[in-house]
Amino acid sequence: MSTPFPDERTAILTGAGSPRGIGRATAFHLAEAGWNIGLIDVDGAAAAETAAEVAATHGVRAAGAGADVADRDAAVAAVDTLEGQLPQLVALVAFAGVASPVPYLDVDADEWRRVVSVNLEGTHWVTQRAARSMARHGVGRIVGISSVSAQRGGGTYSKTPYSAAKAGIVGLIRSVARELGPHGVTANAISPGPIDTDIMGGTLSDERKAAMAADGVLTRIGTPRDVAAATAYLISEDAGFVTGQTLNVDGGLYMH
Ligand code: NAD
Repeated sequence: MSTPFPDERTAILTGAGSPRGIGRATAFHLAEAGWNIGLIDVDGAAAAETAAEVAATHGVRAAGAGADVADRDAAVAAVDTLEGQLPQLVALVAFAGVASPVPYLDVDADEWRRVVSVNLEGTHWVTQRAARSMARHGVGRIVGISSVSAQRGGGTYSKTPYSAAKAGIVGLIRSVARELGPHGVTANAISPGPIDTDIMGGTLSDERKAAMAADGVLTRIGTPRDVAAATAYLISEDAGFVTGQTLNVDGGLYMH
């Protein structure tokens, strides 16, 4: 039998600072469903402001902390801070990420390090810290954010270091799922296709959106809400038998 969720539970989200991002939309979506919310972003002021808005809108408890998730000590300290302020940590969703449109032959050491350290190592540091608390409680939900670009070899905006890091997240999540399963913790990845945010070099024009949609089987690209809803399912109490999976939220861009 799984350990039941506590009545009051917290989801920590990284990368929820940008105004049109998936993390922010997910924070509001989860708060609407009763989750208390902890937010971590490299822009600590934005994380705190978003947390205050979430609390005011949905009447839950929420707090923000600033950290570069690629910096292990900062990432751990941010989770420590939020855990000290909020009810039991039950879910972690690692949205923090950076894009990389650089062609492969031009990728230098700095670009490789920047992209892999934030997307892959940043996901790992917060996951490991959160997993320690979840294992202690005997219950938890972890979601890592991959990308269709890991499965199709780029093809949208970001290229090699991004695809490599996002593929790494799938391997990380599967291994975490295996090791943490006996402790009541599930771990899954979401692999979004193109989503209407500003990460692909700024706000998308209608022409760019149409071109990206033409690649898939639906007539549109995704919205932050599409990913928020998938997240809500994967961290729900009812998803306790789903672990080690990658859920594509990509309009059928990649079928496997
Ligand atoms: P976004 O740029 O709006 O959000 C990214 C957030 O991460 C921002 O709030 C930013 O401040 C934060 N961040 C960046 N570096 C950080 C660091 N070192 N430490 C802490 N926070 C940091 O982009 P988004 O589209 O909302 O992306 C969210 C996640 O979804 C990312 O991991 C992205 O790679 C992934 N994703 C997005 C798409 C898409 O089409 N938008 C597709 C596939 C995957």
